[in-house]
Amino acid sequence: MFYHTGMERKDFIKLAGLGIVASAGGLGFKSFAEEAASLKDAETKMPALFIGHGSPMNAIEDNAVTRALKKLGTELPRPKAVLVVSAHWLTRGTHVLSAAKPKMIYDMYGFPDALYKVKYEAPGSPEFAKTVKETSAKTEIKLNDEWGFDHGNWSVMTHLFPKADIPAFQLSIDYHKSPQYHYDLAAELAKLRQKGILVIGSGNMTHNLGDFDISSEDGKPKDWALEFDTKMKNFLDSHDHTSIINYEKLGKIAKLSHPEPSHFQPLLYAIGMQGKDEKLSYPHEGIVYGTMSMRCVKIG
Ligand code: ZN
Repeated sequence: MFYHTGMERKDFIKLAGLGIVASAGGLGFKSFAEEAASLKDAETKMPALFIGHGSPMNAIEDNAVTRALKKLGTELPRPKAVLVVSAHWLTRGTHVLSAAKPKMIYDMYGFPDALYKVKYEAPGSPEFAKTVKETSAKTEIKLNDEWGFDHGNWSVMTHLFPKADIPAFQLSIDYHKSPQYHYDLAAELAKLRQKGILVIGSGNMTHNLGDFDISSEDGKPKDWALEFDTKMKNFLDSHDHTSIINYEKLGKIAKLSHPEPSHFQPLLYAIGMQGKDEKLSYPHEGIVYGTMSMRCVKIG
């Protein structure tokens, strides 16, 4: 399936045209080469995303979040490659997936057979994996050709880029490191956005499977989930990254929202890439099963 409509493409071309007209107005102040370089940047700088992936079943279901992801996929500029920082690749040290043809990893148990038949066959990107390694000066990033696409990746990519024709790869999360560490590493890797790489943190704004109410997808959100999700939204709206990095200071609601940090850590990779005055928006928001925030964040 392909979700571009003629109307959206036309609108995009029109908007791109307006951008060029607006920039051309500055030619009196910049050399042509500078202007051309900044236009090229404007063309290729990719957004950074945080996606709430939720249940692996989202890979094959049609619901509010999957529809939001499909829509978002049609609106994004076409990346040269997609780098997913998945809550489901937790390691010691930081690894980058360098396989040319990444395998599928079905890292979930007890789901219907159909879910184990999902294939997302995008090529890998050994070249950009090397770029990621070279971009990080402070942290040693190891090339890894043994991992593949885990469900934090394919349950999201299936909707964002259903044609699977854009190279995709993953960055692992050094699980025991502090939030500040992840944020700083992301800030270092932010220049990947200028190279045409779309970075996606794939986790959840709240994630407590122990308190999960499987019987009520549309059930009333628990107070703590709502409070934590709202607080994070307010911090994001006011560019208060310090409070997000120090989320554990929120005490009980932080502990309930993230009994362990795997699904929060990908958010730090998205916000670590946010420029000082860069806008953000929410392609989707909402809490499912009473406890799981599906909030998605688009930066840029
Ligand atoms: Zn997950």
